[in-house]
Amino acid sequence: MLEIKGLSKSFGGIHAVQNIGFDVPKGDIVSLIGPNGAGKTTCFNLITGFYRPTQGRVLWDGADVTATSPCRMAQLGVIRTFQKTNVLRNLTAYENLMHAHYLRDRTSFWRVFWPDARVAAARAEIRESSQAILGLMGLGKRADVQAGSLSCGELRLLEVGVALAARPRLLMLDEPAAGLNTREADGLAELLAGLPGKWVESILLVEHNMNLIMKVSDSIVVMNFGKKLAQGTPGEIQRNEEVLEAYMGKAA
Ligand code: ATP
Repeated sequence: MLEIKGLSKSFGGIHAVQNIGFDVPKGDIVSLIGPNGAGKTTCFNLITGFYRPTQGRVLWDGADVTATSPCRMAQLGVIRTFQKTNVLRNLTAYENLMHAHYLRDRTSFWRVFWPDARVAAARAEIRESSQAILGLMGLGKRADVQAGSLSCGELRLLEVGVALAARPRLLMLDEPAAGLNTREADGLAELLAGLPGKWVESILLVEHNMNLIMKVSDSIVVMNFGKKLAQGTPGEIQRNEEVLEAYMGKAA
């Protein structure tokens, strides 16, 4: 579904991403891992059009979408989250979800004031979908709580929910387990594993929580100093000497 071919990005003398290539097939959860500064978020920014690559191409359903604007990528079904949470803190959890649906569902200016039956039906559908996503996230009882008052774990879940409300085909999550405790991270892993085929087609995940990565990934791409170090199943990556060295340093 998503094909990354020879992607590179330099910032002056810093080669943040160098000749990276991998695919995200339909139905899969692919994880991008690597030590701090390896170039993972830069990859996300290149795929979603926040950065223009120095070299390389991004293909979506076989079409070249390199450097397509983030808004257009979102309309095509590529929805991402950010490391720093971007939910609207003054709105309730439910209002955040309602708001997120409007990426796809548009209403003309005048229809806001004089809604017709079609608009009323769309609104009812959005309300229903928002409730369903809150339920899926386990936030049903927190619907009317302001996002700014939610716990870190709840906020992370809401963020995934907001991304789902935009009806992604590919959901790209940048460190969704950051700040979660073990129990919360396990819950998130279970939730993510159940999304492909039901709520999304595929997931591309950047995460430092190895437990979660090993539980949910169909394949893992390992980056180090901007380059692809390895790619394989969780089992293959766990046994890869170069990967262990990148994370833990060379054994004496
Ligand atoms: P982390 O796990 O800490 O989030 P990462 O693997 O996501 O790290 P990136 O944030 O992609 O790594 O950064 C890769 C390199 O590119 C780093 O050396 C970083 O300082 C540099 N970099 C990223 N964005 C920019 C930018 N806008 N301008 C200059 N350098 C940048």
